Amino acid sequence: MVYPHSFGGQFVPEILMTPLLRLQQSWEKARASNTFQEELDALLRHYAGRPTPLTEVKRFAAAIDSPRLFLKREDLLHTGAHKINNALGQCLLAKQMGKTRIIAETGAGQHGVATATACARLGLQCVVYMGSVDMARQKPNVDKMRLLGAEVVAVEQGSATLKDAVNEALRDWSAHDDNSHYCLGSALGPHPYPEMVRAFQSVISLETKEQLSALTGQAPTLMIACVGGGSNAIGFFHHFLADESVQLVGVEAGGLAIAPGQHAARFAGGSPGVLHGCYTYLLQDAFGQVMPTHSVSAGLDYPAVGPDHAALHESGRVRYEHVSDAEALKAFHLLTRCEGIIPALESSHALSYAMKVAPKFAKEDIIVVNLSGRGDKDLNHIIENHHDNYC
Ligand SMILES: *Cc1c(COP(=O)(O)O)cnc(C)c1O
Repeated sequence: MVYPHSFGGQFVPEILMTPLLRLQQSWEKARASNTFQEELDALLRHYAGRPTPLTEVKRFAAAIDSPRLFLKREDLLHTGAHKINNALGQCLLAKQMGKTRIIAETGAGQHGVATATACARLGLQCVVYMGSVDMARQKPNVDKMRLLGAEVVAVEQGSATLKDAVNEALRDWSAHDDNSHYCLGSALGPHPYPEMVRAFQSVISLETKEQLSALTGQAPTLMIACVGGGSNAIGFFHHFLADESVQLVGVEAGGLAIAPGQHAARFAGGSPGVLHGCYTYLLQDAFGQVMPTHSVSAGLDYPAVGPDHAALHESGRVRYEHVSDAEALKAFHLLTRCEGIIPALESSHALSYAMKVAPKFAKEDIIVVNLSGRGDKDLNHIIENHHDNYC
């Protein structure tokens, strides 16, 4: 699949160009190497828990008046979400490059935990930059990373959240590129990161295609994934992009309202610009200043989206929609009660969109939703905020 080239690029300070070019060369060698792919496949299969099941959810489908509906179960992976696919891929690559130290940034802590896990498994040193505001909000993940042997560095600059942590991680990488790899957590950032993360996550669509065909003999009619930076969505869509008969929808965080500072729907309120090394869609004001964002789900709460999605939005191949915090919470409760599957709040956005559109589809159609992660990490938020049980 060839993507339009206007989005993406390498908008970085000169000092990062050499590390990026080295990474690009090593990645191109690794992706063509059978031994690298075999080693990664073995890790995914025997350590992370791939292939993940494709589960038909009949009671949920009946409750929302849907045709046959399947969930791709990334929630069942080790550490509870798709992020481990990318963390293992990048850490294995770093090890092959002779690096001994991994730098990561994290917002909610999920990518930090996945990276600390991969580092423990592969015997690599791990440093995770995290905004001090996020550290206070996500204490259990900070504890987990430290237990796993990672050093968690508090970032006090700026708003002391994810985008400030990214800046610190890039600064560290530019100073320690000789022994360190920067493990970026989504399909974002300067080339080759978006392409590399997409490749590591595309195992999701490869499996989905085979599994759905074996189970039903059909191709999906509609596929839905939530979009933060965009890694689970691009991985879930990748092997279906060429088949124009498959409708693809990415769901962003509509938050409280589509008004400045109250959401993270880049395609509803954003415009093209540069953030963290690439040209893409982001939420910015008339002066190009990055806007604050809000979402009930920390993983979708980010001002920029990966450049592949910007291109797929402009070409029209993928449609981007948004659902509100309240709608996502409703889907969270419904799936939990109907199926005994507690979804992440991020994934609940994709489920909520399925609830909206499923009745419009014919009985012989098939809908597949990517369940990007499990909701254990969100339980405190749900319970503390006394969200109604909508069932
Ligand atoms: C981090 C996360 C996301 C958002 O990240 P993407 O790169 O857009 O996939 C979605 N779901 C879960 C469960 C996450 O942990």
